[in-house]
Amino acid sequence: MPDYQDLPENISAQSAAVHGGLLRSSHMENAEAIYMTSGFVYESAEEAEAAFKGEIDRYVYSRYANPTVSMFEERLRMIEGAEACMGVGSGMAAVFAALACQLSAGDRLVASRALFSSCHVIATQILPRYGIETELVDGGDMDAWEAALSKPTKVVFLETPSNPTLEIIDLAAIAKLSKQAGACLVVDNVFATPIFQKPLELGADVVTYSTTKHIDGQGRSLGGAVLGSADFVEEKLLPFLRHTGPALSPFNAWAALKGLETLELRVRAEAESAAKVADFLAEHPAVAQSIYPGRSDCPGHEIAARQMSGFGTLVSVRLNGGKANCFKALNALRLIKISNNLGDAKSLICHPDTSTHAKTPPEEKARLNIGPDLLRLSVGLESADDLIRDLDQALTANG
Ligand SMILES: *Cc1c(COP(=O)(O)O)cnc(C)c1O
Repeated sequence: MPDYQDLPENISAQSAAVHGGLLRSSHMENAEAIYMTSGFVYESAEEAEAAFKGEIDRYVYSRYANPTVSMFEERLRMIEGAEACMGVGSGMAAVFAALACQLSAGDRLVASRALFSSCHVIATQILPRYGIETELVDGGDMDAWEAALSKPTKVVFLETPSNPTLEIIDLAAIAKLSKQAGACLVVDNVFATPIFQKPLELGADVVTYSTTKHIDGQGRSLGGAVLGSADFVEEKLLPFLRHTGPALSPFNAWAALKGLETLELRVRAEAESAAKVADFLAEHPAVAQSIYPGRSDCPGHEIAARQMSGFGTLVSVRLNGGKANCFKALNALRLIKISNNLGDAKSLICHPDTSTHAKTPPEEKARLNIGPDLLRLSVGLESADDLIRDLDQALTANG
């Protein structure tokens, strides 16, 4: 355990976001240092021997641990309220490591159907190649969850709110079923962020993040993190990461670390604008459906209100007139940018059917309700009035 800066007992997550996990060098820098080094040196051969025997706790190689990465891990760990956290090179590295580190040939994985597209590929194509059986369940169908978890299951994996239809899954209920089945519940918490949803408090065992999204939040770097119990990290995750090597770059860890300082302020401001944008869209004649978990007409609203302390920064919308009108609106936007990324200070919009989910089989897209009429908007830090004006003029171009 690195020698992190001493902090007062029981400080809030808000304060931990600024001070947590700081490792100050002998130069007494204020801002956290970027330790851009792959290796570390030893005063003597004996010291190197002791380090490799595990007799002394120190940095030996950045694939194992690095001081800047440690600062990021400790800070996010404090915000999440987890026992342990490991940073990795991307959100997909986090998901794959969280699953693969504990699954073996012959094991069963049960996952929600509405998954981020690469997570869907891991569950349905990559893990089955290693002899792991996968069953997908409609996230809101409790009978289907019960049936799926009545068979021996090693891991349960889900995301809520889901991408891109913002489907909500009852975390406490699935945690209970997972526990009864003896399964480890892994939650991809990217859309909710560590600010608005605490899966571990609701009974989940492991949480994953793509720091590429809200945690960096300014579109600069890829990264990911896995959080869970000290036992899970020590016994399962750490050996897997050390030897398979999806290490987080110290530079990217630093971007995410500094992003954590302003994460809460940013996502609260973005969520406030997202609610206004969703309400505006719901009333617009060009719109067939405005989907935002904070709206009472959103199917998952009640569960979201119970398990989230804010409703997130993403709004999805179905336009009248299908693909043609979606493209017309996208092309008419002036402030909001067309991009498949999300969680950025800049508002970003995409047409999932032809971008993020272009390779998802049509029958699967139909089951997920991802049609040619759907747009996904990630609300950024611009003023809500400007976003609404931009959307209004773009949707009017449909008229
Ligand atoms: C972006 C994202 C990922 C993958 O993260 P990367 O950093 O792009 O690898 C996984 N899950 C969800 C829900 C995401 O939005």
